[in-house]
Amino acid sequence: MRSRLLQRNLRSDPPLALSGEGIFIRDSNGKTIIDGSGGAAVACLGHGHPRVLAAMRAQEEKLCYAHTALYSCEPAEQLADLVLQDEPGGLTHLYLCSSGSEGTEAALKMARQYHLERGEPQRTKIIARRQSYHGNTLGALAASGNAMRRAPYAPILSDAFSHVSPCYAYRDRRDDESETDYVARLAAELEAEFQRLGPRNVAAFIAEPVVGATLGCVTALPGYFDAVRKICDRHGALLILDEVMCGIGRTGTMHAWEQEGVAPDIQVVAKGLGGGYQPVGGILIGGRVVAAIRDGSGAFMHGHTYQAHPVAAAAALAVQQVIREENLLENVQRMGALLGERLTERLGNHRHVGDIRGRGLFWAAEFVTDRATKQPFDPALQLHERVKAEAYARGLACYPMGGTIDGRQGNHVILAPPYIVTREQVETIVDRFGDAVESALAGLPRG
Ligand code: PMP
Repeated sequence: MRSRLLQRNLRSDPPLALSGEGIFIRDSNGKTIIDGSGGAAVACLGHGHPRVLAAMRAQEEKLCYAHTALYSCEPAEQLADLVLQDEPGGLTHLYLCSSGSEGTEAALKMARQYHLERGEPQRTKIIARRQSYHGNTLGALAASGNAMRRAPYAPILSDAFSHVSPCYAYRDRRDDESETDYVARLAAELEAEFQRLGPRNVAAFIAEPVVGATLGCVTALPGYFDAVRKICDRHGALLILDEVMCGIGRTGTMHAWEQEGVAPDIQVVAKGLGGGYQPVGGILIGGRVVAAIRDGSGAFMHGHTYQAHPVAAAAALAVQQVIREENLLENVQRMGALLGERLTERLGNHRHVGDIRGRGLFWAAEFVTDRATKQPFDPALQLHERVKAEAYARGLACYPMGGTIDGRQGNHVILAPPYIVTREQVETIVDRFGDAVESALAGLPRG
């Protein structure tokens, strides 16, 4: 190992990403690869979009930084106006930060402050879901139910958080159970958790509308989020939806919750907000939450030095303008449908592909030893990493995950191409991915 830059793997150095254009990245191995997952579902416009680069340059020349204790800035104000145009789902305000984890922290603290302002200081509990990921900082990790990521840090995580089952029909719906009955069972479990904690002690429930990294593009069954919303309302708790990965157009609508027929009180966004052009995330906040704080103490008791950074905001503003002006959600819907169709044609009958699922340009394949038993592969085989390596060898980047998450899942790999992807590129992505999966599975040790 030569690199002094500590990133993830301390035993081997990754290649250097040298340049990018559209859906392609050129690297220090001399390869040009298709960024088939936009990193971790980040690069929604692909790389080097001239409009975003120009907006960043223009802002850099005007002003790179001013502290929010003294100033607001034009691009952040314009970004808030654009993102909240028509107040989607009653969301009226935007708080900007630099990552998804920071967004989750802000959402959790705002939920807590909302109840304090309203004279309910006893609301200290947050309910989240198992096999979930909401970020790596300590508060966001405490919310996360992902056993693998939590385990080393469990002793220093807050015990204000508890976890219920996610809506994961592929594995958890019983064979003799209808979809409606499964949703009713999950709702009863959530209700029971409120009762266990004392309904007036719960500040919020947090979940991803479409589960990204931990489960692999798992959509909820119809009626699930409606039931969740009703339970939160009945007990006066806030609903926080984490759309860091699935939001800002990724699933074909600007917000994933639009397809669930409910709106959150607080929504976390990040990856698609700035498309990777700058580190930027945020929360969208409902009018009644803002009103409680404005009419109470008058200040959100939380902040960061780089919140609403002018250049980050300028990049995000340009990304959001391009998504709207180039009508990219329509392309996400059309190319997403094609991607799902082609993946199913290519891999749907493979004996080790248990499930192919997704929405919009957000698809995953989950691998199993046996389709009938849904038995996951031995985590030590690191099948998802093998698929990633085979895909890279064929000029495709995808996002691997799994195997060791709660010991109950198969490995899965996510495809989440930029919203600008063309029909021909979708075909190429599926060809390369199909070859990579077949080769990785064929290359597993026998026994
Ligand atoms: N929430 C979800 C749903 C995520 O997928 C992620 C990142 N994978 C985060 C939060 C944390 O975001 P970040 O890595 O930007 O801190």
